[in-house]
Amino acid sequence: MQGHDDGEPTVRIREVKKDRVNFVLGNVDLAFANSLRRVMMADIPTVAIDMVEIETNTSVLPDEFIAHRLGMVPLVSANCDEAIRYTRDCVCLAGCSFCSMILELKVSCHDDNTMDVTSDHLEVVPFPPDEESADPGEELSKRGEWFGHPVGKHDRNVPPVLITKIRKGQELKIRCIAKKGIAKEHAKFSPCSAVSFEYDPHNKLRHTTYWYETDIKGEWPLSENAKEEEAPRDDEPFNFNAKPNKFYFEVETDGSLGPQEVVMKGLAELQTKLANLILGLKIGGADQIDIMPDDVPVPHVPPPDNAWSGGDPNTWGMHAGSASGGSSSGWSQTSPTRGGAGSQWSNDASWGGATGTAGWASASSPQTNGWKQ
Ligand SMILES: [Zn+2]
Repeated sequence: MQGHDDGEPTVRIREVKKDRVNFVLGNVDLAFANSLRRVMMADIPTVAIDMVEIETNTSVLPDEFIAHRLGMVPLVSANCDEAIRYTRDCVCLAGCSFCSMILELKVSCHDDNTMDVTSDHLEVVPFPPDEESADPGEELSKRGEWFGHPVGKHDRNVPPVLITKIRKGQELKIRCIAKKGIAKEHAKFSPCSAVSFEYDPHNKLRHTTYWYETDIKGEWPLSENAKEEEAPRDDEPFNFNAKPNKFYFEVETDGSLGPQEVVMKGLAELQTKLANLILGLKIGGADQIDIMPDDVPVPHVPPPDNAWSGGDPNTWGMHAGSASGGSSSGWSQTSPTRGGAGSQWSNDASWGGATGTAGWASASSPQTNGWKQ
């Protein structure tokens, strides 16, 4: 296995499709690869339905059920950074065209057959002039033609998302407000349906313990990625200093953003986070974050007998270590996925769980914030 100092980080794209990308990330460590995975899942803004006003619902599903399903419908969010504001950053009182989109769902069944109500029935409607913000902004000119529309509505090859089914005489009349958000707030904002990476396909590092009955090689076939790496010899001694440095990524989006935008924004977001951390640790940072100023006597630090405390027991070294540790544990608390640094695969089940448990405020609630803790 190669060392870490062999060069700059590398990216080799193996396959790109409309909604997925497969690439190999090299010359980075495991923590970086996992940070990238988590940032792509949880920190990239998209637009999703956040508030639902139900005027008529005579379908068999209760209002909350339909509100939740509407929230999960992916909406086209390309160039979300510039094309829409967060409501919290906007000057308006209750949503305007710069920070919100209005979608309407008006369907009724007059047929003897059961009718499918799908995301294709959602129509984007312009903001009424009396709710329009007087504040000038250039967000509207940054929007693409289908910004805020349900993904696949204008593409015959993409099947629509089924919201509910209605029978003769049943009707739905719903007004939805879509807003910008990130998946740390609610999983519906995640642009990704799956982000995963594999490393060390031959398990040379022994990060995985395989359970098997009789034959480990027969019961655990090697992945395709194993072709990229040299197989270990049977007599090869275990190298306990070896570290992984090649990561096989697979990023799949729900269509709200393209895979290229997800990866590029993920890298930019990670850079911003690290820049903020460095800034916080530099001059002036002592006021904002929990760092001891220079004039406080440095407490006795035991000799560095573990790897991460660093050789130089000065104040900055200590706190840099503890600050980064704190930040990563904070992520694992807020992110919907609980996978630790060592987990190879994102746990899709936990995404579904996060969605289900995060819950929605009652659809008819006057609250502007459509979700509750
Ligand atoms: Zn606004």
